[in-house]
Amino acid sequence: MASETNETREKSLNFLEEIIEESIAKGETRVQTRFPPEPNGYLHIGHAKSICINFGLARKYGGKCNLRFDDTNPVKEDVEYVDSIKRDIQWLGFDWAVERYASDYFDQLYDWAIVLIKKGLAYVDDQTQEQIRENRGTVSVPGTPSPWRDRSVEENLDLFVRMKNGEFPDGAKVLRAKIDMASPNMNLRDPAIYRIVRAHHHRQGDKWCIYPLYDYAHPIQDALEGITHSLCSIEFENHRPLYDWVVDNIGFEHKPHQYEFARLNVTHTVMSKRYLRELVETKKVDGWDDPRMPTICGLRRRGYTPTAINEFVKKAGVAKAYSIVDIGLLEHCIRDELNTTAQRRVAVLHPIKVVITNYPEDKEETFELPNIPKNEEAGVRAVPFTRELYIDADDFAEVPPPKFFRMKPDGEVRLMGAYIVKCNEIIKDEQGNIVELHCTADLETGNGNPADGRKIKGTIHWVSAKYAIDATVRLYDYLFTLENVNDVPEGTNYLDYLNPNSLTELHNCKLEPALAEAKSGDKFQFVRTGYFCKDSKDEGVFNQIVGLKDSWAKEAKK
Ligand code: ATP
Ligand code: MG
Repeated sequence: MASETNETREKSLNFLEEIIEESIAKGETRVQTRFPPEPNGYLHIGHAKSICINFGLARKYGGKCNLRFDDTNPVKEDVEYVDSIKRDIQWLGFDWAVERYASDYFDQLYDWAIVLIKKGLAYVDDQTQEQIRENRGTVSVPGTPSPWRDRSVEENLDLFVRMKNGEFPDGAKVLRAKIDMASPNMNLRDPAIYRIVRAHHHRQGDKWCIYPLYDYAHPIQDALEGITHSLCSIEFENHRPLYDWVVDNIGFEHKPHQYEFARLNVTHTVMSKRYLRELVETKKVDGWDDPRMPTICGLRRRGYTPTAINEFVKKAGVAKAYSIVDIGLLEHCIRDELNTTAQRRVAVLHPIKVVITNYPEDKEETFELPNIPKNEEAGVRAVPFTRELYIDADDFAEVPPPKFFRMKPDGEVRLMGAYIVKCNEIIKDEQGNIVELHCTADLETGNGNPADGRKIKGTIHWVSAKYAIDATVRLYDYLFTLENVNDVPEGTNYLDYLNPNSLTELHNCKLEPALAEAKSGDKFQFVRTGYFCKDSKDEGVFNQIVGLKDSWAKEAKK
């Protein structure tokens, strides 16, 4: 990596791009992909990888990407999820060629099952689920054929029609592909392709009581939609022979191909919908869009942008091998973007009052502060200055440690963009808590440098007490204390590593008056503090997106 320049790295292809370019070289004229989410939860950043790959490659090669909802499992699926998935994909900047549902194909899937039965390639099995599992064997021991494996075509046709007609209870029978009970690939040991489930389907209502399984439905849909590259995550690798079996044995002319890439994992968070749902249902977080969640809606509410997420996915890379990506890289991407785009504002999170005793009570003036330093086009804003101000309690030390250049007794410090002040007196209540700091300002110097050449080492931020607005600020830490929550130590559960301090809510923070105009979703740099986003749900709340310090950039340079 050290010998490569950024430019050559940009130009080199990832392995999926290589595959596509090879297929184009061999005469493939189209690139048609699909993104196939199951509408049983909200999308997360792992899905964003799959979205960027499927939609992104179609875009890069002038092709198309379909959105296909895998709604073959009616028990867990809902239209709420369908809507959120569409919203999130569009927000990420992608659009689909056509919107399809696995359920659109239920009639055809049923007809193709009949074809397989007639070819002697599928049979109705009366074994219970447990018996089927027991008889599947193990990797080293071949499976035991079902006593029903050699039923006649007529009997299979009759039973399958009756399964569909609702003559048998749930789970009483399944339709299985007749492949190879001794195959070293367990997925080929006569996998179930249809099961009986009486569940209301969010699009089909109660029309069906039999539902196809994903491994059977997916290749058929890919073939019917003319998918050229069916790109999915690595756990489907062992399913590819079954995918090909279905395509070949039904005899589709168009043969789609499946290619697998590694799932995206990120440190300090979980990525499976099952876990995310549990966090929501047990109220460990405040919904799917809690700003601590790795969901797309959570990241959006937190203040992440589509460009930062796309950039993150790109930097995380596309490969086949398992890896876990440092969450610092995600933070780096948004920080990098906001550094040049986010307007600066002043917010005092732990306010402590400062009185400038030599500043007249009725006097007011304004100082101009840059909206984005080093970007003149972004302009300036006028910030009011009055006798009473707030500074952050962290910027004052009664007993300062060495090299403390912020406010301290008898020390000078600059109020950002305004006067140099000196703290002369600490006012405390009866319990000894600091109530106010009394300072005098160097009114002669104004916001320039002192004429006598004395050096002022520290600069701190401030807001006018008279004009400040109150707000609640939410600070976030990682949702999990463990770095790799996918791989928890034996005998423990991922919930054992839930960070009890992942949310800190600060009330009565003092913000500069310009922030009264902030709209939900607006993002700012609170100077010297971090990047923040106006919450889209709760009035008067700002969420911390990320701090200012970039630990990842430092790590990466090592
Ligand atoms: P989960 O395990 O979180 O429930 P899933 O794979 O069941 O995820 P689907 O809705 O079926 O969720 O996923 C749609 C597509 O997104 C699939 O093709 C899957 O390969 C891909 N995908 C899901 N999670 C990731 C991930 N972490 N990294 C990359 N791709 C993913
Ligand atoms: Mg899935």
